[in-house]
Amino acid sequence: MSSLETMGAARRAAAAAIDAQGTDEAEWVAAQLPDHLPHLVLPEGPVVVVAAHPDDEVLGFGGAMAALLDAGAAVHTVCLTDGEASHGTLSASGRERLAARRRGELAAALGELGELPAPVHAGLTDTGLDEQESWARAVIGEVLDAVGAAVCVAPWVGDLHSDHEAAGRGARAAGRDRSTPVWFYPVWMWHWARPYDPRVPWERASVLPLTEAASDRKKAALARFTSQLEGRGSGVGPVLPAREIAHHTRTFETVIR
Ligand SMILES: [Zn+2]
Repeated sequence: MSSLETMGAARRAAAAAIDAQGTDEAEWVAAQLPDHLPHLVLPEGPVVVVAAHPDDEVLGFGGAMAALLDAGAAVHTVCLTDGEASHGTLSASGRERLAARRRGELAAALGELGELPAPVHAGLTDTGLDEQESWARAVIGEVLDAVGAAVCVAPWVGDLHSDHEAAGRGARAAGRDRSTPVWFYPVWMWHWARPYDPRVPWERASVLPLTEAASDRKKAALARFTSQLEGRGSGVGPVLPAREIAHHTRTFETVIR
């Protein structure tokens, strides 16, 4: 099987996992992860949070970002694509409009979390990041160097979404080049996995319980991603229906190291 065919099969399997109905948040609540996993200690130094699409960083790590900002840490963000493919096949101008809308949503969302610099937009290709991993690695590396990052945080390399996994691999490589620790946040894993699913390295997972204030700011930030929360027209539902948002408005966040 050629590598292209392998990639096609992997993408189809991932798409099937994401298209499936998904795990109800009640199952995750019942698992009481914060009682069973170590708690995360946030770093004091600058933190660089990487996203494949505008919203990943808030979905996976927005509460922690609010907590870091409250503690006086500098938080920088790198958004590798503009998420221009979230509404299926669009004309070139339609993709440009969606990209601009999503950049605006991200700026507004980050404003809800606190005061942080404007995101670095790498402008790579939505749904094509796995073919641009070396570019992602270079952009992330430049930002890590520029801010003297203590930790880099990125989408989880096992998330079963090709862009998320490529973003995670790019961050992992950039971190390794500089001996900067890289933490990973899951996004779609909460949808396709079950508590203690053997496909997830739970032994490397830790949780950050969120204060009510951090949790409220994360919710306010999430509400800014209206392009992902509204139906996409012609009867197509939102990218992030309420049952997905439920995974990201719980009282804690999780990273894999
Ligand atoms: Zn994403």
